[in-house]
Amino acid sequence: MSAAAFVSLSAITPLPGKLCEQYIRCGKAGCRCQEGERHGPYYYRIWREGSRVQKVYVKREELEAVQAACDSYKDYLAVLRTMKASRMRVTRCISGECRRAQSLFR
Ligand SMILES: [Zn+2]
Repeated sequence: MSAAAFVSLSAITPLPGKLCEQYIRCGKAGCRCQEGERHGPYYYRIWREGSRVQKVYVKREELEAVQAACDSYKDYLAVLRTMKASRMRVTRCISGECRRAQSLFR
């Protein structure tokens, strides 16, 4: 199965990263969060793009969908790894055939 086929088969668009929750202080004077009762949790999806860490806010009602998308991305990576491994096997196999063919014409 190709990676593209995998993506089109799953109803979920895979997303990189993982969910994390955060509690924040709003900064308003006299707010309960000043006494340590912070607001939240607020959810974010965090992932790495090259050397930069990306962070995007996730709405509470989107939590499940985003979690599923992250899980799906992990599966997607696993498929990619498997494909890469099998491509390497094929390459090795072909180069082996090539050597054998060359030795016939020597
Ligand atoms: Zn507050």
